Amino acid sequence: MREVKIVSRRFEIPEVHRLAVALENGAYETAKKAMAEAPEKIVDEVCESGLRGKGGGGAPACGKWRLMLSDFGGRPRYLAVNADESEPGTFKDRQIITKDPHLLLEGIVLTCYAIGAHDAYIYIRGEYHDFQKILQRAVDEAYEAGLLGPRACGHDYRVDVTIHRGAGAYICGEKSALLESMEGKRGHPRLKPHQKEPEWFFGNPTLVNNVETIATVPFIVEKGAAAYRSFGTEKSPGGLLFALSGHVERPGVYEAEFGTPMMAYIERYGGGVRGGKRLKAVIPGGASTPVLTADEARKATLDYEAMRALGSSLGTGGMIVMDESVDMVAALKNLLEFYHHESCGQCTPCREGTGWVDALVAQVLAKEAGEEEMGKLLEVADTMNGKTICVFAPAVSGVIEGFVKKFPEEFEAYLQRSRP
Ligand code: SF4
Repeated sequence: MREVKIVSRRFEIPEVHRLAVALENGAYETAKKAMAEAPEKIVDEVCESGLRGKGGGGAPACGKWRLMLSDFGGRPRYLAVNADESEPGTFKDRQIITKDPHLLLEGIVLTCYAIGAHDAYIYIRGEYHDFQKILQRAVDEAYEAGLLGPRACGHDYRVDVTIHRGAGAYICGEKSALLESMEGKRGHPRLKPHQKEPEWFFGNPTLVNNVETIATVPFIVEKGAAAYRSFGTEKSPGGLLFALSGHVERPGVYEAEFGTPMMAYIERYGGGVRGGKRLKAVIPGGASTPVLTADEARKATLDYEAMRALGSSLGTGGMIVMDESVDMVAALKNLLEFYHHESCGQCTPCREGTGWVDALVAQVLAKEAGEEEMGKLLEVADTMNGKTICVFAPAVSGVIEGFVKKFPEEFEAYLQRSRP
């Protein structure tokens, strides 16, 4: 396994979250140079790099970036940085925010310049109170040094950055809900337009990318698209900060290139399954990605295409490792309580369905369910798929299917116990 240091390259430097140390280690040098040239050069480099959004969807960043260069009749353009990071099992963006916030701010300056935006908003998860303080201190330091403000990085180009705290709703990590929330409304996802459009913030075109995506931009602009493409696979270039949790010896956040075998990653960085126990399952990309069996995990590589081929998704790269001691029915119940609580309630299949499936799995766990309840569980899960405003409900449906279909013997054991 090759070592990859794209966004984590300064993580080990003590106190690098402070501007003086960050400057000694090259922070803002790329922005200072790149802003002397045409903004299109940055967009071209990002497009050639094949950078994909690192917040879960994995869509190529290029499409959204190019859309921002359309003629919007003089309307202001905005950048919204998604730091909501509420997906269980995902805790990588906060590493960037706490360890190297100036990398994110440099990425923001470069992105604003590239798309013609002067105002950037960082929407940070409400519970990230302490991390927000670190970020705010970095923003204040950058203003004092003239790296943000009317002449960002010494150029005649204004970049202002505002931190906006969320109020704790998971769904505000969905980009349109995030913008609704920033507009002061309830964080409800919006209907998707038929044609390709940017997102809109107070009726103005807005680019929404997550923290790690924006923090990758300085590397691409400094080293070039080819350097970024030298990592990863052809379709999933570069790498990702994967977060490793659950039953491993050393949980944490470790950067790796796309295409790395999943088990090699778990062994090398996580020290393998805790206590020498047998692996039972891995949730590969945050709680809302379908679970993999141990056999599937052994075949899996950490890239978007391989995960899709296994019927799951790379999501945010938040891997939750489960050993042989895990009761998969109880694990599903735990997840469903979360989704039941976090449904925003706009769509009936989701609002009602998340409650139903939670109650049905509770019945299974209490050994009060039979074949009928299991059938109903899958039927309700199917009703939640493809009939709602956002992907929350389809994701829950996929999670249920994964657990029930891949670990049928565990559900069967509860059903047998419930028979008279
Ligand atoms: Fe809200 Fe669920 Fe509908 Fe998404 S699918 S908009 S979370 S009710």
